[in-house]
Amino acid sequence: TPVIRVAIAGYGNLGRGAQAAIKQSPDMQLVCVFSRRDPASVTLIDPSVPVYAMDDVAQYKDDIDVLILCGGSKSDLPEQGPAFAGLFNIVDSFDTHAKIPEYFAALDAPAKKANKVAMLSVGWDPGLFSINRLYGEAILPVGETYTFWGKGLSQGHSDAVRRVGGVKSGVQYTLPSEPAMARVRNGEQPTLTTREKHTRECYIVLADGADADTVRNTIVTMPDYFVDYDTKVHFIDQQTFESEHGKMPHGGFVIRSGVSGMDNETNNQVLEFSLKLGSNPEFTASVLVAYARATYKMSQAGETGARTVLDVAPGLLSPKSPAQLRKELL
Ligand code: NDP
Repeated sequence: TPVIRVAIAGYGNLGRGAQAAIKQSPDMQLVCVFSRRDPASVTLIDPSVPVYAMDDVAQYKDDIDVLILCGGSKSDLPEQGPAFAGLFNIVDSFDTHAKIPEYFAALDAPAKKANKVAMLSVGWDPGLFSINRLYGEAILPVGETYTFWGKGLSQGHSDAVRRVGGVKSGVQYTLPSEPAMARVRNGEQPTLTTREKHTRECYIVLADGADADTVRNTIVTMPDYFVDYDTKVHFIDQQTFESEHGKMPHGGFVIRSGVSGMDNETNNQVLEFSLKLGSNPEFTASVLVAYARATYKMSQAGETGARTVLDVAPGLLSPKSPAQLRKELL
């Protein structure tokens, strides 16, 4: 089988994770990394491949089977996705859930025109969680689906606490509520409020002279971000902050609670999928790399246009042949 030639566009957390994941995939070869920054200023975790300017990406059209887009969902991907879908097979982790339908359309047209496959919104949510929500709904049509997130570092909420006056350093973790999860796992189908589903915890280093009570109060009453949650605020010193809060853990649970059977002869059926991630970006990038393989195979089979994880057969993610998979995994 040929080695799949991949490249990375955008080198932040996800880009670094993608390079590491490609290294764990013997059927793939990393050709190069593209960045909008001066290539000489971008330090790779493994400097054995070149960094090229993003503006020159079209020159490498024939050298790359799949381009893995590792830019941010907010402003990078809406620009890069439609532009690169007309040049390469692409895969990205676009995670602005409400905008996925319009982003799909923006990739579909150029990908079809160029006879390429554009795989969007790959990762864990959207991504593996979406697939498990689908399994739950399709297999247990009578029931409810619950998604709980955490324990995980939330980038948006961490940014929000860092903007509070008197905060020197800060992070925010989202935690699933254990009592709520216990009820769902137990086969109840409760209606849960925002406050009942998740709690929030902040770890804050105060600036010199700042008042802890004022900072706590500003955080827990912050509209949109904290006011609808029960939030704990912990004050720590800078050294503890640096040694204990430098990672990007995340994870969560998708639970479908349904019933099967006829009328008064019903049985509860609970389907659960969970993730406990030491590094959110490294895991997300690992999912992107597996889907880059599927994207390559779909392109080789003549498919074109935009696709999401809901459109991809699971066997395509594996480097193993269908025959080998039937023997080993069924
Ligand atoms: P980063 O902010 O680390 O990187 C985004 C881009 O910023 C990079 O591609 C890079 O582009 C640029 N960049 C990175 N470092 C620097 C720097 N030091 N100075 C200037 N520019 C820099 O974002 P992440 O990699 O953490 O996340 C990317 C996206 O992944 C998120 O927006 C999120 O939407 C998505 N995601 C999706 C998940 C899912 O489950 N679907 C889960 C987790 C994340 P360049 O090299 O061109 O400068």
